[in-house]
Amino acid sequence: MKRIVTVGFLMMSFFAFSQQNKIDQKVNALLKKMTIEEKIGQLNQYTGDNQATGPITINPNKETEIKQGLIGSMLNVLGTKYTRQYQELAMQSRLKIPLLFGQDVVHGYKTTFPIPLAEAASWDLEAMELSARIAAVEASASGIHWTFAPMVDISRDPRWGRVMEGAGEDTYLGSKIAYARVKGFQGMLGDVNSVMACVKHFAAYGAAVGGRDYNSVDMSERMLWETYLPPFKSALDAGAATFMNSFNDLNGIPATANKYLQRDILKGKWNFQGFVVSDWGSIGEMVAHGYVKDNKEAALAAITAGSDMDMESNAYRYHLAELVKENKVPIALIDDAVKRILRKKFKLGLFDDPYKYCDPEREQAALNNPEHRKAAREIAAKSIVLLKNENTILPLSKEIKTVAFIGPMVKEHKENMGFWAVELPGLDYEKQVVSQWEGLKNKVGSNTKLLYAKGCETTGDSKEGFAEAIAIANQADVVILSIGENWNMSGEAKSRSNIHLPGVQEELVKAIQATGKPVVVLINAGRPLVFNEIANTVPAILYTWWLGTEAGNAIADVLFGDYNPSGKLPMTFPREEGQIPVYYNHFSTGRPAPDENATNYVSAYIDLKNSPRFTFGHGLSYTTFDYSELKLSKSKIKSNEKIEVSVAITNTGKYEGTEIVQLYLRDKVGSIIRPIIELKDFQKVHLKVGETKTIQFIIDNQKLSFYNNKLEFGSEPGDFDLMIGSSSSDIRLKDSFELL
Ligand code: BGC
Repeated sequence: MKRIVTVGFLMMSFFAFSQQNKIDQKVNALLKKMTIEEKIGQLNQYTGDNQATGPITINPNKETEIKQGLIGSMLNVLGTKYTRQYQELAMQSRLKIPLLFGQDVVHGYKTTFPIPLAEAASWDLEAMELSARIAAVEASASGIHWTFAPMVDISRDPRWGRVMEGAGEDTYLGSKIAYARVKGFQGMLGDVNSVMACVKHFAAYGAAVGGRDYNSVDMSERMLWETYLPPFKSALDAGAATFMNSFNDLNGIPATANKYLQRDILKGKWNFQGFVVSDWGSIGEMVAHGYVKDNKEAALAAITAGSDMDMESNAYRYHLAELVKENKVPIALIDDAVKRILRKKFKLGLFDDPYKYCDPEREQAALNNPEHRKAAREIAAKSIVLLKNENTILPLSKEIKTVAFIGPMVKEHKENMGFWAVELPGLDYEKQVVSQWEGLKNKVGSNTKLLYAKGCETTGDSKEGFAEAIAIANQADVVILSIGENWNMSGEAKSRSNIHLPGVQEELVKAIQATGKPVVVLINAGRPLVFNEIANTVPAILYTWWLGTEAGNAIADVLFGDYNPSGKLPMTFPREEGQIPVYYNHFSTGRPAPDENATNYVSAYIDLKNSPRFTFGHGLSYTTFDYSELKLSKSKIKSNEKIEVSVAITNTGKYEGTEIVQLYLRDKVGSIIRPIIELKDFQKVHLKVGETKTIQFIIDNQKLSFYNNKLEFGSEPGDFDLMIGSSSSDIRLKDSFELL
């Protein structure tokens, strides 16, 4: 068996190698024919025109430039019809080099999946790979070759609006998810159903000071390597074809001109063979940063640092040729960037058939495939996190007589899509998206009466709708309140200093609570929000994020127990903004607070607890799980040895369910202080009522290693605590071992 696998692997490697060789020969032959202008053209990316509003009119300048071979790639051109229209222009150019079409396909294309942060709450790598795969099938059928995703930026700051696009605060979980998403998008690159992934934003964008988008990042090398870079490396290991650099500066040097990041780490140490695209206008923005005096200097700095393609700055287009003439940019640098891009165009098969991804029939079928919606519904249900369920109000009985469904989100369609949903021209959201109201109606039988009131707007201070809401609440057996953020309150350039629930929504909840009826709250948002009163007083809370086209059905599945919630928070929820950054895997100070209420002479606020509202990894189920029989195969190991860990999980409650079992470690003493707790592994276990399963984990040296002060990655002898639990603050079993 082993031999067959080895032979198979060798054959595959040989095949990949010879295919790459052939591509390289073709690229070199083409490069020889190219003028300097045509070469620079390949490094130039523009946005499309008018795609969202009907028939496309191509800007005459762009039309001419494409025909002259001065544009290598377009973004924001959607659909086989329009991509073909552009590609036909490229086919009129001297060398007929096809255009690449890029798009932010962040969480689905037509079928919209939960926002990435929500999906991360599923901790379901297979489901996330599938959602990326489906997005790729739809986008590629619609003429797209390349998605600007996944965003793998770790962030510990929920004020930053872009947390909705990532996988949360944890490096281990984030790295696993980065890998799964790249695999999903890319499938077998070159296959007509695949798109290139673009891992972004390289690097450390999620650590913007104050959570303000685009802001500076000042960080130690060690922190960069330990916390922020691993998801990028993991995405690369999954075969990511492209990377995007970033708007922020890192320790004073804009990421776009950061040679250390792009040339030394990415293309050097990590041997990345794909290409790097700038972020939108980020080359030109280096003038505003105060790093260069004009666009020409910006072009010089960016190409020197390893940014291969210029998205929308025009800096390469207008200045690179001159810089080559002046001997400031060696032609070899340009050639290297061009080759990286051309290789991908060959790999995608665009030279064999520039219209390979432009088949309207395939587009029709892919965009209307019911299987895609089924997958969207499943992962949406898996993304929901049950934050609280006192008195086991949930799940609701399908026999329930009267339900009052109240809140500004109940009848919305587009709101469920969240930021970065692809705005397909002419898309009818009312038809495309299952609202929460429709989902509920689909779920209950004719014996259940459904009442609706909006109550208030998401934002604004009018309480005019309260009276009607209270009136229907009084008639109901249970009230479901759907509140949250509007879809455009978390996303790019959507930083918030105040992450409380906006408007009078918390007051609406209070007013409804005063009726004495059982209340379930659904919170729809793109980030962790602050909602203390609700957290303290409402018995049942589901965090429903923005769940995409099947939001309504998925929420109803969870409310009525057809899906038993299994989501776990991928990010810590603060009690107040003043605690931010608050994250689970922090260090201990020399004066740790002995308990929650200690304030004097310890590292604590005098006006707020240190603990967050909800911790990383938290999420309840309708059933209960018992953890037992933790066993370690050894209590002392050498660095080349492993420990097998086993633990038994039993479903002790009344419902079938899935538990995400989390394994954490603490390295007790280190030459660099180690976090008090760190996620090192997890498993999803599905259990029938009464069922027990024993699961295994392996602790190897990799899991015990960290970057020391010399930036060497390795382990240090000493004692380790091992913790297994249902969240980072709900540790059920503990043991320890020693690394010799
Ligand atoms: C964002 C990128 C995105 C690009 C293209 C930029 O503003 O930062 O993440 O891919 O726009 O839409």
